[in-house]
Amino acid sequence: MGKNKFYVTTPVYYVNDSPHIGHAYTTIAADILNRWRKSQGYKTFFLTGTDEHGQKVQDAAKKAGKSIREFTDLKSKDFIDLFSKLNIKYDRFVRTTDKDHEQVAQAIVRKLYKSNDIYKGKYEGLYCISCEAYYTEKDLVNGSCPIHKKKVELVSEDTYFFNLAKYQDKLLKLYESNPELILPETRRNEVISKVKSELRDLSITRTNFDWGIPFPLDKKHVMYVWADALTNYLTGVGYLKSKAKLKEYWPVAVHLIGKDILWFHTAIWHSILLSAGLKPSRKQNVKISW
Ligand SMILES: [Zn+2]
Repeated sequence: MGKNKFYVTTPVYYVNDSPHIGHAYTTIAADILNRWRKSQGYKTFFLTGTDEHGQKVQDAAKKAGKSIREFTDLKSKDFIDLFSKLNIKYDRFVRTTDKDHEQVAQAIVRKLYKSNDIYKGKYEGLYCISCEAYYTEKDLVNGSCPIHKKKVELVSEDTYFFNLAKYQDKLLKLYESNPELILPETRRNEVISKVKSELRDLSITRTNFDWGIPFPLDKKHVMYVWADALTNYLTGVGYLKSKAKLKEYWPVAVHLIGKDILWFHTAIWHSILLSAGLKPSRKQNVKISW
């Protein structure tokens, strides 16, 4: 079997803004974990990178008077420079505009479609352009996005949905059989209670902007941020490119995240993996003693 393996990831950081202390904090934490495992003789892989698609980036580039390519090149370089100053030793810096990532994201969509988990519909909802997410009435604080405190807009558009609701039982079983899949426990409980009460299908395409990965099932649509961004964790370990590498590292993976993206990295990510015929990522099966 060879050496123990360790795969750690940070979120892909959104390039509409400059790096801040939060990005440094998460990436330093991942670097520490990675160095620690390496020092114990583990074969390790550390992935970080930037999330570069979506309307916010398109708007930010325009505002800066640059082409989108130019803008995302400059912005992702800010992160690379910061991590270099912090002496962070990652194995790959993935950009969601990288060709191999675009291919992975599209391949995963085809898998979901094969599993009968994608259908076309209309989406109408309260949308925060800064989050690139829809909210329900009860999520809002004084009619505004709870994160950005900005007014949400009522939006209606053609979209393709991912059949998230179908995975309710499977997700609950998964969380029950893997108590350490989501940590800390308070966040685990939060996810379980939301999966039980309000698992809504997920809109995974947009037509109102074009700065995104082309949706492989319909040329009028581009992939919407989560189906694109989450699959970077597979790009990093060679999905499509190297079966050997994928087998080596997947599904043992530690995804470091912030609480704002908890839902996307749990219910949604685990369902996508199940639908694509992959094992949900899980923590190392090793007792950790300090
Ligand atoms: Zn928001």
